[in-house]
Amino acid sequence: MFRTKYVSLLFVSFFLVCGEKPVKPSKADLYLGLEKTSYLTGKFSSPGPLAPVILEENGKDHFLRPEVKKALHQMINDFEDSKPSSYKQHIFLVSSFRNFTHQKGIWESKFTGKKAMRVPIKGKTPEEIISLILEFSSAPGTSRHHWGTDFDINALDNGYFEENGKGKILYDWLKQNAGKYGFCQPYNSLSTRNNKGYQEEKWHWSYAPISNQLTKEWIKGFESGEIQLTGSFLGADVLGNRALDYVRSINPDCERIQNPSL
Ligand SMILES: [Zn+2]
Repeated sequence: MFRTKYVSLLFVSFFLVCGEKPVKPSKADLYLGLEKTSYLTGKFSSPGPLAPVILEENGKDHFLRPEVKKALHQMINDFEDSKPSSYKQHIFLVSSFRNFTHQKGIWESKFTGKKAMRVPIKGKTPEEIISLILEFSSAPGTSRHHWGTDFDINALDNGYFEENGKGKILYDWLKQNAGKYGFCQPYNSLSTRNNKGYQEEKWHWSYAPISNQLTKEWIKGFESGEIQLTGSFLGADVLGNRALDYVRSINPDCERIQNPSL
């Protein structure tokens, strides 16, 4: 026993003296120490390894990965410094990390008709209902909101960010500058995404240096069968492989951001 302790002590001392640390982030860092499939499909609760993001106009608690929080704060501070002094809008969060259970609640409230969509679901087939949900909402286990890298800002309404909208100046600044901080708008105009995937969402932003890797791992996991959705929410069996198209169809600009330039 004594001998084992002594050997361990020597081993630890050796590392302390040499001060060697791994440079390349390991896969464990990508999943913040959680099991890979659980992380990718949002089967964990906040805060867990996530950090709270506190902004004055946030209406509720928000959590993101620590590195995403840091980049977001930096971007917000720079926006505040550079915007016209007469412009009163700030960047704040309306949604951030959502786990599997939360997403299941959103999905099933639309699937059962409890929450209204663009058109009523009465008389529609499960396939048709799913197509309607997928215009704006992800199936549980397939949402980028599961990763702590993605968030929605200010208003879930494209009009807010467009001509005559209160968020036009803010959006134009983001389009010009967000990439420097590592952020992209994954659901941009459908025409740049071969008309596949979710409708455009000017409010949804993603921290590409990490979400690019998570997207690839999710696709690999789904294709290999490691990620299984069957039976885990209403309509999962009808959804089938369509989930893959929705995860894949994102703004190609995101892929070009490897590391933030700031
Ligand atoms: Zn979103």
